[in-house]
Amino acid sequence: MTRDHWGQVQKELSKTIGQNNFTTWIEPLDLKAVKQGTAHLTAPTSFLGNYVAQHFGEQILFQLSLINPEIRKLNFDVASTGSSTPKPAAKVNKTQDPKAADATLPGAPLDERFTFDTFVVGKPNELAHAAARRVAEGGPVTFNPLFLYGGVGLGKTHLMHAISWELKQSRPDLNVVYLSAEQFMYRFVQALRERKMMDFKSLFRSVDVLMVDDVQFIAGKDSTQEEFFHTFNALVDQNKQIIISGDRAPGEIKDMEDRIKSRLQSGLVVDLHPTDYELRLGILQAKVDFYRKQYPDLVLAPGVLEFLAHRISTNVRVLEGALTRLFAFASLVGREITMELTQDCLSDVLRASERKITVEEIQRKVSEHYNIRLSDMIGPKRVRTYARPRQVAMYLAKTMTSRSLPEIGRRFGGRDHTTVMHGVKRIEELKAIDGQMAEDLELLRRSLEA
Ligand code: ADP
Ligand code: MG
Repeated sequence: MTRDHWGQVQKELSKTIGQNNFTTWIEPLDLKAVKQGTAHLTAPTSFLGNYVAQHFGEQILFQLSLINPEIRKLNFDVASTGSSTPKPAAKVNKTQDPKAADATLPGAPLDERFTFDTFVVGKPNELAHAAARRVAEGGPVTFNPLFLYGGVGLGKTHLMHAISWELKQSRPDLNVVYLSAEQFMYRFVQALRERKMMDFKSLFRSVDVLMVDDVQFIAGKDSTQEEFFHTFNALVDQNKQIIISGDRAPGEIKDMEDRIKSRLQSGLVVDLHPTDYELRLGILQAKVDFYRKQYPDLVLAPGVLEFLAHRISTNVRVLEGALTRLFAFASLVGREITMELTQDCLSDVLRASERKITVEEIQRKVSEHYNIRLSDMIGPKRVRTYARPRQVAMYLAKTMTSRSLPEIGRRFGGRDHTTVMHGVKRIEELKAIDGQMAEDLELLRRSLEA
């Protein structure tokens, strides 16, 4: 952190708080040092220090932390006039509570491991990766927002952090802010409570690239949605890049206002598909290369990684966790990683991912999804409202369980196997031509596998 940096921070502040405020309060300040996460500022009088701490502390902290993310605290001293040691005038703290800490700064801390270097690209995520790379170039905004969606543990947060890291390198001039929708809400509520809405608005409107993770969190939270919508529009109007993630496509988010859904859809919407075997294997191999540095003597029997890639399904977090545990265990007991050790050490994970999906679960999920009663799904009524969901459930039962057509028919109120066959075929046809159907199926499959 140099004088120049402080100059830069002052310049940014002058934009957000106005020239008058700036001349009165900020210009007289000086940045003396940054030590262990605290920025030490000096003010000519303790009154001025106190006032600034109270009224502009948060914004100063915000701007400083964009340049140096380590900075979590401000400390104001009275500028020494030569003789006496400086008296502390005021302090602004990021509080100890990690949840509250996020409230002080708009941006959440970034995970150092989540970079493009460590992101393994495969068929299921290549589009999302390419789009993330594109926005990370920091060039002219071509699609806005970029909306990334997919199931748990498929790399949404990883990609967003990677964009952030990349932009910090290539475009240090930009204010890049990453935070979860939950943190957005938390800050919004805090601003309301403390009557600091103007600060809140000006903070978020001074951002060049805004990333909001897990946007589904604010579904059903009306005033937060409203504020999010305004922030979103203000930034889009200024042609600032916005990147949003969610656990499903914008149109599928329940209790989200239509105008917000349509805004979220207005840029590029990309789906992270569930991992396939090749991608899982690639991720495991990358992890092993990484661990080898930590445990150079480790011996890994052939076939172990392939076994894990086969047996542990889509969620990458679970896959990584399994491998971490395996390596830690093997190094603790000083044994080679054999197939046997793997099965011993990971028996619970393997058992969990072996979980069989039942026809009953499928029926329950599908009827919830289409908002019909389970009894109507299984019952005799043939109107489209019930028949279509029934066929969807039959299709899923056929493709996700090992039940035969007659067995499935029996579970649908004793229907004939030809009825099931017809239903499965109908859904296959629809899936190919009807985007909504394809999406419903994907969503249902995901939530059944979760
Ligand atoms: P999400 O936000 O979609 O729930 P995360 O981004 O948190 O998922 O990813 C979960 C874990 O899996 C993280 O540790 C992340 O680094 C890892 N991960 C996910 N996808 C990949 C990938 N393609 N390559 C490497 N690691 C990945
Ligand atoms: Mg995430």
